[in-house]
Amino acid sequence: MRTLLQGGTVVSAKGMTAADVLLEKGLVSAVGEHLPVGDAQVVDCAGKLLFPGFIDGHTHFDLEVGGTITADDFASGSRAALRGGTTMVVDFAAPDKGETLAAGLERWRRKAEGRAACDYGFHMTIDDWNEGISREIGEMLAQGISSFKMYMTYPAMMIPEGDMYHALLRLKEAGGIAGVHCENDGVIRALTAEARAAGRLSPASHPRTRPAPLEAEAVGHLLRLAQLADVPVIIVHLTCREALEEVRAARRRGQTVYAETCPHYLLLEDSVYDRPEYMEAAKFVCAPPIRKKADQDALWEALRKGEIDTVATDHCSFTTAQKRVGQYDFTKIPGGLPGVEHRGVLLYTHGVAAGRITAADMCRVLCENPAKLYGCWPRKGIIAPGSDGDIVVYDPTADSVITAADQLQNVDYTPYEGWKTAGSIARVYLRGRLAVDRGRVLETGGQFIHRGKNHTFSCSSNGGMV
Ligand code: MN
Repeated sequence: MRTLLQGGTVVSAKGMTAADVLLEKGLVSAVGEHLPVGDAQVVDCAGKLLFPGFIDGHTHFDLEVGGTITADDFASGSRAALRGGTTMVVDFAAPDKGETLAAGLERWRRKAEGRAACDYGFHMTIDDWNEGISREIGEMLAQGISSFKMYMTYPAMMIPEGDMYHALLRLKEAGGIAGVHCENDGVIRALTAEARAAGRLSPASHPRTRPAPLEAEAVGHLLRLAQLADVPVIIVHLTCREALEEVRAARRRGQTVYAETCPHYLLLEDSVYDRPEYMEAAKFVCAPPIRKKADQDALWEALRKGEIDTVATDHCSFTTAQKRVGQYDFTKIPGGLPGVEHRGVLLYTHGVAAGRITAADMCRVLCENPAKLYGCWPRKGIIAPGSDGDIVVYDPTADSVITAADQLQNVDYTPYEGWKTAGSIARVYLRGRLAVDRGRVLETGGQFIHRGKNHTFSCSSNGGMV
C-alpha cells in the first residue's frame, strides 16, 4: 500500500520545506512538491508539520529499582511513546554484577520482544569490568548494540574509575560509545548521612544532597578520563549551568563530547521539592534532581546554540503508591519520572511555539542527532527516500492539555498535569503504517533495530553540528 502525505511542511535539522511525502513498503519512497498520486491513499497534511519519528535515547522500561519494578513495561511504555510521536526508544539493558553482558542482553530482549509497540534498541550497561566483559564488547557491536552506559554513582551500578578508563579504551578500539551518569557519589553519600543525622528526611533534602557542583565535578572528572583515553563520550541527562561549563571546557580542548538533557530539566524548578504535601514533592525525586530557573535558562540557550545535542526523557516511572515506600525517608523513594509520552509536545510548546528554538532545532535534538549518535542514521532521524516511513504529523493549531487521566503511561500522575500544549500530534506513522490517529493507537509492532557504530558529527561550542 502506498500513502501520500500531501501538502504538509517537512521538517529537517536544516529547516522546513513544503513537500509531499510518499510512503511505500514501510519506507519513504519520495519527497517533493506535487508528487503524482497514482494509486496512493492521499492524506491531506495542509497546515501540518511533518517530523521524522522522534527517537528517545534514554528510557527505562521494566526495570527493577530498589525492590520495585517500574510501572511501565515495554508494552505500556512503548505505546505511550508511540502516541507521543516517538517511533524508536533506546532502553538500557543491565546485567547484574557478576553476569555476562550476553545474559543481560538476553533478559532485555525477552522483556521487549513481541511487546514493544515502537521500534527499539538497547544500550548495554557496563556495571562490572573484567577480561570476559572486555571480550564481549565486540560481540555486543556485532549484535547491534553500539552504545554503552556507565555510572559514577549508585553502588549497585558504578565501577572503579580505573575500570572506567579501561572500558573507555576498549570501546574506542571496538567502535562503541559510552553515555555516563555523572554525579560525585562519595560526597552525595556524605551529604545524605548529614541530612539523616539531622533528621531532615523529607524530599526537600533530595536536591540539597545532590547539588549542581557535584554533577559538574563528575562531568569534569569523566571528561578528563576521556581526554586521556582520547575517546568521545556522551553526558546523559545534563541538568545545570556548571556541568555545561565543563562540557564547553572539554570542547575547547578539542574533545568530542555529546550532551543530552531532558524535558524535566528544561521545564521544572527545584521548588517542586518544597511542596507541603510529602507525596506531591516525592513524585519529583529523580537523579540528578530538578534544578533552578537559571539552569533552565542555560539549558535552553545551549539547545538553541547547538551545544546540547539530544533531548531524551530518562522515562523511569513509578506510581504514587510505589513512591510511598519512601514516605518517611526521601532516600527510599524510587527515583525517576514518567515522560516518554509528552516529550515532543512539550518541546514544541515550550521550545518552538515559545520562540526559544526553531522546528529545525527540535528535529535536530529529537530525530537527527539521536539517529546519528546511536548508529541508525539515515535509516531513522530524517524524512528522505530510503529512510523508514516513521513520520509525526504535527498539527500546530490543535491545542490540548496534558493530564494523567488521558495518558497511556501506566502511572497515576504526570509532572505536567494541566499544562496547555501548543498544537498536538495528529498522526504517527511507524514504518509506513498509520500507528496513531488523533491520540488513538491503532497499530503497533515494534522491531529491534540493529544499530551500527555512532556516526560522528561535530557538535557544539563552535557553531552547531555538520
Ligand atoms: Mn536513566
